[in-house]
Amino acid sequence: MNRLPNSASALACTAHALNLIEKRTLTHEEMKTLNKEVIDYFQQHVNPGFLEYRKSVTAGGDYGAVEWQAGGLNTLVDTQGHEFLDCLGGFGIFNVGHRNPKVVSAVQHQLEKQPLHSQELLDPLRAMLAKTLATLTPGKLKYSFFSNSGTESVEAALKLAKAYQSPRGKFTFVATSGAFHGKSLGSLSATAKADFRKPFMPLLPGFRHVAFGNIDAMRALFTDCKKTGDDVAAVILEPIQGEGGVILPPPGYLPAVRKLCDEFGALLIFDEVQTGMGRTGKMFACEHENVQPDILCLAKALGGGVMPIGATVATEEVFSVLFDNPFLHTTTFGGNPLSCAAALATIHVLLEENLPAQAQQKGNLLLDGFKELAQQYPDLVVEARGQGMLMAIEFVDNEIGYQFSSEMFRQQVLVAGTLINAKTVRVEPPLTLTIEQCEQVLAAARRALTALRQTLAAPAATATN
Ligand SMILES: *Cc1c(COP(=O)(O)O)cnc(C)c1O
Repeated sequence: MNRLPNSASALACTAHALNLIEKRTLTHEEMKTLNKEVIDYFQQHVNPGFLEYRKSVTAGGDYGAVEWQAGGLNTLVDTQGHEFLDCLGGFGIFNVGHRNPKVVSAVQHQLEKQPLHSQELLDPLRAMLAKTLATLTPGKLKYSFFSNSGTESVEAALKLAKAYQSPRGKFTFVATSGAFHGKSLGSLSATAKADFRKPFMPLLPGFRHVAFGNIDAMRALFTDCKKTGDDVAAVILEPIQGEGGVILPPPGYLPAVRKLCDEFGALLIFDEVQTGMGRTGKMFACEHENVQPDILCLAKALGGGVMPIGATVATEEVFSVLFDNPFLHTTTFGGNPLSCAAALATIHVLLEENLPAQAQQKGNLLLDGFKELAQQYPDLVVEARGQGMLMAIEFVDNEIGYQFSSEMFRQQVLVAGTLINAKTVRVEPPLTLTIEQCEQVLAAARRALTALRQTLAAPAATATN
């Protein structure tokens, strides 16, 4: 009755979208209309920049590339019915695959009972998940704070470290070059990349960056900080840098950082948002070197590729700063029943199917293959590196990497690599990828490199004619 014209139009939009959500399949005409709408609305209302940067949009053919649904455990399907082997794994979300039946079932059961909690009574799944994580994580890690993303899990870790160290007169945070910890103002202060930081300066005071993997440089920084009274409160680092291009520290680095922190009374925060949940061949990457942090950040794959959830797990000594007033740091949706159900099922699947060990085995198979290709195509590939199912192929330049990932896309294998950031292409498939699918990926990579070499040789050949 007193509906404004705008609300009538918005109602038409939602009706149209709801109709789409309920559809299982699309006719060719519906697909064409939908793809056109999606590209148009990205242009007009999401951010036109995405259309420029994504390889998939240009490599997707006449109608662009618009996703429609999960396919099998390790594949996804676009609106045109093309099935892609997922070797990007949502940058580490899909460790247990797409729509893993156990995760979906747990979430569905909880959805039928109660999707979100009252915020007043004690919610049982939060208790179950916190207990599970205390059991699963290394060392004295015992208490969990739940949030909705990796960024938030880092934010909580920084706040915990601040609350613990402020009374001790320690305010400096040490992060590493190449680090990625998120893009909120706090987590961005720990992130290292100038492109992401520059427009938002000044960030939080007291953050210092030191070369990743260099213990001498870190010790020198600690010593300098002590001399000037800027004592180090905490070190935050990824045991293997993900976003930075899959950078592995030298053996012995993580234990040496632990020792340094102990010597100076600093806390050690491991950001395992990407390396956790079996990705690198152990449940947590820090277990490769038996190093225990004071605070551990988890997210991405923790929700099993079904729900978003982040967790900040800390020792009792550190976490106790929140005991007197648990409302010091809170979030409405963090640790909601649907997300906890997803995380509990995810951990169950990872353990029951021994997926960390599978990641080690299949990661070795893939990495050996990529290394062999790197040797055979030194004109295109600098090196292949990684641990478990967290791998990267570094190309001689950005353009070659972009061409490679576009070529893989044409062969319906999804790998990372955007227009501006493709020199190092990350390969992070679900840990559930089959051996046969691993071989498929390697064959596709070989074909892509062969095709690339031919295109590169072509103009030179015509020039000499
Ligand atoms: C992805 C990532 C984050 C940020 O997680 P979001 O869920 O995107 O907020 C933080 N740290 C690391 C190591 C990551 O890989």
